[in-house]
Amino acid sequence: MPTLRELTEYHKPTSLDEALKLLRRPDIRTVPIAGGSGLVPAAPRDVEAVVDLSALDLAYIKPCEDLKAFARLCIGAATTLQTIVEDEAIRDYADGVLVKTILDTATRNVRGAASLAGSIIDAKGNSPLLTMLLALDAHLTILGDKEEDVALAKWTQQDRTLITRIALPVLSNETHAAYEKVARTPADLPIVCVAARATVTNGQLNDVRLALGGLGRKPLLIERASIGIKEAVKIAVESIDPPSDYFATAEYRREMIGVLVKRVLSSLSR
Ligand SMILES: Cc1cc2nc3c(=O)[nH]c(=O)nc-3n(C[C@H](O)[C@H](O)[C@H](O)COP(=O)(O)OP(=O)(O)OC[C@H]3O[C@@H](n4cnc5c(N)ncnc54)[C@H](O)[C@@H]3O)c2cc1C
Repeated sequence: MPTLRELTEYHKPTSLDEALKLLRRPDIRTVPIAGGSGLVPAAPRDVEAVVDLSALDLAYIKPCEDLKAFARLCIGAATTLQTIVEDEAIRDYADGVLVKTILDTATRNVRGAASLAGSIIDAKGNSPLLTMLLALDAHLTILGDKEEDVALAKWTQQDRTLITRIALPVLSNETHAAYEKVARTPADLPIVCVAARATVTNGQLNDVRLALGGLGRKPLLIERASIGIKEAVKIAVESIDPPSDYFATAEYRREMIGVLVKRVLSSLSR
């Protein structure tokens, strides 16, 4: 694996325009670098140049002024995971479950360096953070040919683009979120995990988003306007085609997904 010492170029632009111009050069493979905790130890072989995002004012947490109808909070792409878990507004958001999944995703040292966007890009299918953001219906602002607002559920990483921020939607007082995992130890990343968001009216679950992690390259999203817990377990178990590996068999994963869906939705409807 090459390290960043072998790179030919390091850039630290002070405007998004400049950053984008550097990233879009056709003749030299250039990638963004935020915390560097993923990229520095494992830079892809063909990377020749990096664009450091630290002078672009992309580290913030604030109400989204231009997305009022949709979003409550905008998090700058370069905001570190540690800044996010320490933020009052985020601690109150979605019953504190977003914070729980960040703590479950990265240790204190990693959280101090790793950015939210870098963590989304590098996330595997069993990432608690990615699974939770999917259940919450987070949106990404992507800068490429144009600026676009893309639901995380529809997003695929494109070279030569920049994530500039992550927007979290407004949640009503009746909307709650929950997350559970199965792992070898509490400190390990999940074998499987489930995150959910639902509006709860008289114990009924409406506007349900269930995200299932640990089943492949990306977490799987199941959405229903309204659903009972038994039905949700059945749908989840029947929708998946889990892999077998040295952590767990496909059968174990399938069974645990059923257990976690029941656990998560039961905690929401209480
Ligand atoms: C000791 C150690 C332990 C780790 N443990 C864990 C762990 O437990 N769990 C875990 O999930 N990860 C872990 N990681 C991996 C690492 O923390 C993640 O990859 C990290 O979250 C990446 O964030 P970053 O800001 O450091 O990204 P970088 O390393 O800077 O970049 C990661 C990738 O994202 C791209 N990128 C960054 N910002 C943007 C942007 N705004 N727009 C577009 N592309 C962008 C980069 O080009 C690169 O491809 C660990 C890493 C280390 C060094």
